[in-house]
Amino acid sequence: MSDTRKLGFDTLQVHAGANPDPATGARQIPIYQTTAYVFRDADHAAALFDLREVGYIYSRLTNPTVAALAERIAALEGGAGAVCCSSGHAAQLMALFPLMQPGCNVVASTRLYGGTIQQFTNTIRKFGWSAKFVDFDDVDAVAAAIDDKTRAIFCESIANPGGYVTDIPAIAEIAKKGGVPLIVDNTSATPYLCQPIKLGATLVVHSTTKYLTGNGTVTGGCVVDSGTFDWSASDKFPSLSAPEPAYHGLKFHEALGPMAFTFHSIAIGLRDLGMTMNPQGAHYTLMGIETLSLRMARHVENAIKVAEWLEKQPQVSAVTYAGLKSSPYHGRLASVCPKGAGGLFTLSLKGGYDGCVKLVSALKLFSHVANLGDTRSLVIHPASTTHRQLSPDQLKAAGAAPETVRLSIGIEDPADIIADLEQALAQV
Ligand SMILES: *Cc1c(COP(=O)(O)O)cnc(C)c1O
Repeated sequence: MSDTRKLGFDTLQVHAGANPDPATGARQIPIYQTTAYVFRDADHAAALFDLREVGYIYSRLTNPTVAALAERIAALEGGAGAVCCSSGHAAQLMALFPLMQPGCNVVASTRLYGGTIQQFTNTIRKFGWSAKFVDFDDVDAVAAAIDDKTRAIFCESIANPGGYVTDIPAIAEIAKKGGVPLIVDNTSATPYLCQPIKLGATLVVHSTTKYLTGNGTVTGGCVVDSGTFDWSASDKFPSLSAPEPAYHGLKFHEALGPMAFTFHSIAIGLRDLGMTMNPQGAHYTLMGIETLSLRMARHVENAIKVAEWLEKQPQVSAVTYAGLKSSPYHGRLASVCPKGAGGLFTLSLKGGYDGCVKLVSALKLFSHVANLGDTRSLVIHPASTTHRQLSPDQLKAAGAAPETVRLSIGIEDPADIIADLEQALAQV
């Protein structure tokens, strides 16, 4: 697609990154199931290894099927480049890796996916990194948490599980003033509902496992770089601005400009950490992403109907969906998620922890799984599953209190989703 006119989202989700296969003319992107690529000659090989020429060396670094997906996600997010990896958690590490050094920290929202809170609380400490958790509704507290060792700010656009909408423009402003990049996990919103780069984010991370694939078949992740951050404005990001010892002294920012982050992530991140997406996985995600806008519109339409119905039920004490007028986050939708609040929210039951366990067991159409963003409606009780390793304070801050159940509303007939909830609530 070499049209200079800017293509619309629905066109990009089908066409970006996908030219007919040069060898065969195949219209659909082939699954390049290969680990290596034959070099034309020794000079070609040397040019590839020097990053003087872009091409394929070895599938731990790049693969044409995976590259097509990366290009598509970058196009949908409005980024300069992207790198796909093996899971959403891998993407988070890949996003932090070029920015952090031992002793550095990331300022992170308290409202994050439980797995991310775990990763940031304990696991990243093994690299000498740490996280400072702050309530991102308190913009001044975010600004106050930035110190001279801060290398990134991290939040979710629509936070899992509570459906909180982050004021990305306000947080981006603080990041800019602090001279650090803002990383937004856009998994729950997807670029159809929210485009963090347009709102000032530097990097966007995804668990492609969720809505981007949309059918619950593969785990995957992606880091999209806006290409707009000036890595050389300070000495905070030596991996990108100074000679990189891990790549024969190459200065990535000077040599590669807006593609510095993406090339660093491939040439060093994937090379040495090895959290690579495989071509078969990329294929499933490419199949799913073609219908992203259609699915998301339906997820939103169904979620509003279900949330409005639930809000009226006597057993229910609260519904957190930002699409509801009663939500304190409703007002943020117009600036952050103009096409809707997604398909994910929590409800709290007057019946408490036991009521939640009963509800989850009584649902029939909903599947009880540790996943979200599937075409199917899904349910989980975070306090007894995904978030069970968190402390009571962390649970509350993350919107996963014991009396709370998370729903991921699918694209089924909304009357059937409501009927299932009705019969299950009657048993609580
Ligand atoms: C699932 C999820 C992740 C982690 O992704 P995986 O693909 O499971 O590693 C990160 N962030 C959010 C918001 C998620 O929902």
